[in-house]
Amino acid sequence: MPGPRVTPVYGDENLPEKVDVVVIGGGIIGASTALELAERGLKVALCEKGGIGQEQSSRNWGWVRISRRDPKEIPLMAETLKLWPELAKRTGRDVGYKQAGIMFAAKTDKDMAKFERWTRHLAPVGLSAEVMKRDAFDTVMGGCEEKVKGGLFTAVDGRAEPQLAAPAIAEAARAAGASVLTECAVRGVETSGGAVSGVITERGPIACDAVVLAGGAWSRLFSGNFGLELPQLKVQNTVLRTSPIEGGPEPAYWNDTFAFRKRADGGYSIADGSTNIAHLTPDSFRLFKTFLPAFLHTIGDVSLRLSERFVIEAVTPRRWDLDEPSPFEYTRVLDPKPDRKLLTRILQDAASRFPIFKGAKILQGWAGLMDVTPDAVPVISGVDGKPGFYIATGFSGHGFGIGPGAGRLMAQLVTGETPMVDPHHFRFSRFSDGSRLVPDDGF
Ligand SMILES: Cc1cc2nc3c(=O)[nH]c(=O)nc-3n(C[C@H](O)[C@H](O)[C@H](O)COP(=O)(O)OP(=O)(O)OC[C@H]3O[C@@H](n4cnc5c(N)ncnc54)[C@H](O)[C@@H]3O)c2cc1C
Repeated sequence: MPGPRVTPVYGDENLPEKVDVVVIGGGIIGASTALELAERGLKVALCEKGGIGQEQSSRNWGWVRISRRDPKEIPLMAETLKLWPELAKRTGRDVGYKQAGIMFAAKTDKDMAKFERWTRHLAPVGLSAEVMKRDAFDTVMGGCEEKVKGGLFTAVDGRAEPQLAAPAIAEAARAAGASVLTECAVRGVETSGGAVSGVITERGPIACDAVVLAGGAWSRLFSGNFGLELPQLKVQNTVLRTSPIEGGPEPAYWNDTFAFRKRADGGYSIADGSTNIAHLTPDSFRLFKTFLPAFLHTIGDVSLRLSERFVIEAVTPRRWDLDEPSPFEYTRVLDPKPDRKLLTRILQDAASRFPIFKGAKILQGWAGLMDVTPDAVPVISGVDGKPGFYIATGFSGHGFGIGPGAGRLMAQLVTGETPMVDPHHFRFSRFSDGSRLVPDDGF
């Protein structure tokens, strides 16, 4: 089963000789960064090894949420919530954005209390969320037969269409003057006097003053060949889409076994809300100590699995010369196989709590590998000792919704503008400056 059908973006034929900034990776983060930079009048090349938006950025649930974020991300997400409503006009394309709210179910009084504690993080950014008791919950999530105490409802949350958004943003970047290059893997970065001077792509060199690495799940491999240790692992989540359903809930919904979101085609994307699969790979062992606090924090939500990914990653070269094909050229699209039994289980679970899903058919299922950092917070940062090299990666399963804002912040750092939010929490150096690296769910 291939991934979802993404709006095709046809890459430019010609490779520019020189630009101001090369952006590596045509997911929502790279595309948003390229758009922001091009809108500021910089010459930009957006290089994507496969097609625009074909990895995480099209496989995700499509949630645009501030709810239940790590408090460190809230100011950036609050800014991003101002960008989504303008995105269709700005790109000239539909991105499927709708502010329809998201409900997180609370099964126990303890869950209710945790959610209540979380809501305090929104006051400083002038937003709010409501912890609803069962009656109020029912008015929002009509037709839910689940035994819950209530839930956390955030009306400013919403959804967008993952198969539309990154392509729309990349096309807008092109319209603003960027080169959009698909099937154009960047093999590595060249420096002159220690500073970035260009990249070598599979189609030839591009001279530039700055590089932004927005390579999603590939960023660790790329950074390693450039002499940087980026602690990043991959975690798999499975999603299905259903046939159209009349009269289903507008808000998106999460409980501890499934999560759903209404789609623009009238069906629903329903996902495994409980078990993310962490494939054991050589990196799991290399990074064991760094990720141990995160693993202990999320115990029960992540299931370890020994699979073919161990062999795939074990035989993937970790070092290569820039005049030889890089690993990025051998895997154009990371397309893990979904577990068919799991797909059936997800729909059955959803239908047992929301009878409206009872007649629904599974039209497609897919999986995606999320790139995660030890504290589940992204890197949006320059790199000490590597002038001109920037990283925007590690969005840890929640980078779609924050993507347009992350791209803006990255562009501000590259151009030296005053950043719209304090970027300190997103610095790359936190992995080596003794900072405590553990996810914070804000409870
Ligand atoms: C199943 C699933 C559900 C999710 N649900 C949500 C959700 O509901 N809401 C939310 O906010 N987030 C969600 N996420 C997370 C979100 O999708 C990601 O955080 C976000 O898409 C990351 O965007 P990105 O641009 O960093 O990475 P990607 O979209 O993975 O893009 C990176 C791109 O870089 C390219 N690349 C890598 N190396 C090179 C190279 N050397 N040269 C050229 N190109 C290169 C890759 O081919 C890829 O296209 C989910 C993720 C998954 C998998």
